[in-house]
Amino acid sequence: MQPTGDVHLGNYLGALRNWVVGQHSCDAFHGIVDLHALTVTEEPDVLGRQTMSLAAMFFAIGLDPDVATIFVQSHVPEHSQLGWIMECTVSFGELSRMTQFKDKTAKREHQFISAGLFTYPALQAADIVLYDANEVPVGDDQRQHVEITRDVAIRFNHRFGDTFVIPEAVTPAAGARVMSLQDPASKMSKSDDSDAGCVYLVDEPSVVMKKFKRAVTDSDTGPDAVRYDRAEKPGVANLLEINAAVTGRTPQAVADDYEQYGRLKVDTGEAVLAVLDPIRARYVELLDDPGELARLLRIGADKAREVASATLDRAHRNIGLLPATPLA
Ligand code: AMP
Repeated sequence: MQPTGDVHLGNYLGALRNWVVGQHSCDAFHGIVDLHALTVTEEPDVLGRQTMSLAAMFFAIGLDPDVATIFVQSHVPEHSQLGWIMECTVSFGELSRMTQFKDKTAKREHQFISAGLFTYPALQAADIVLYDANEVPVGDDQRQHVEITRDVAIRFNHRFGDTFVIPEAVTPAAGARVMSLQDPASKMSKSDDSDAGCVYLVDEPSVVMKKFKRAVTDSDTGPDAVRYDRAEKPGVANLLEINAAVTGRTPQAVADDYEQYGRLKVDTGEAVLAVLDPIRARYVELLDDPGELARLLRIGADKAREVASATLDRAHRNIGLLPATPLA
């Protein structure tokens, strides 16, 4: 995950919460990819702060550094080192066909477009193969990146001998799809037009409540107004789904408890706060204790480097790069 922008309820219910459960069933690696964020960063000091913030959030939601491997990409120099080798293994044509390059450059009209924005799929390929990853859980928008990683890894293995595990894209366990509280037709997103539709995990409780109270619903009235109908009543359905996701019920069962939108909004806000309060408390505690945060990240970097350095060594050996021999 890139350290850009605060984590919101959509990220949490749609993805992060599943990572916390998943860390116990697989050997999971979660990198905070600060070097990828560098493709669009032009100011000093921003990335470090955002990296600390995302790391604190990862630990606050319950990712355990002794169970999963949680690390910062730039703490593991093997990423940059293998990234260059991957750049020399991917073709210009393959990179040119990446739809995300076209999308991202279109959004940066009249802005600086770094070469990194073009070549980052090579670094991402390195991010994946360094850990002998069998599975990469990604949304549809990232499938093309796993495809290019597979093509590059297969090409490398063909040229230099069996070196990398060929990864597969897997669809993550279905999490909730959280819509904007202001525009229930679009996904909750940090790039929402207004902040009012997006609940951040670090929002103060009063702000969270205000956002829920102002959530867009519809003008139905009567005892039947609260029903679970995504097509006809997207705003209400979104509230019911959020409520269901944090209370462990079905949206239908939640709907049965309500007749009025006002009550549903307040109760949903409070149910969300019951989940967010301990997360925010732990997040604040960790941000106040940079030494502890650094210690937790060090655990991750050490674990990550152990695997990554073995993979990089294997790649160097199989290419036949001249080893640097220490003087006797
Ligand atoms: P992003 O930083 O926007 O790419 O989000 C990171 C991950 O969070 C995505 O891969 C999704 O799995 C998840 N996510 C983001 N927004 C939402 C949303 N509104 N509802 C559910 N999941 C989301």
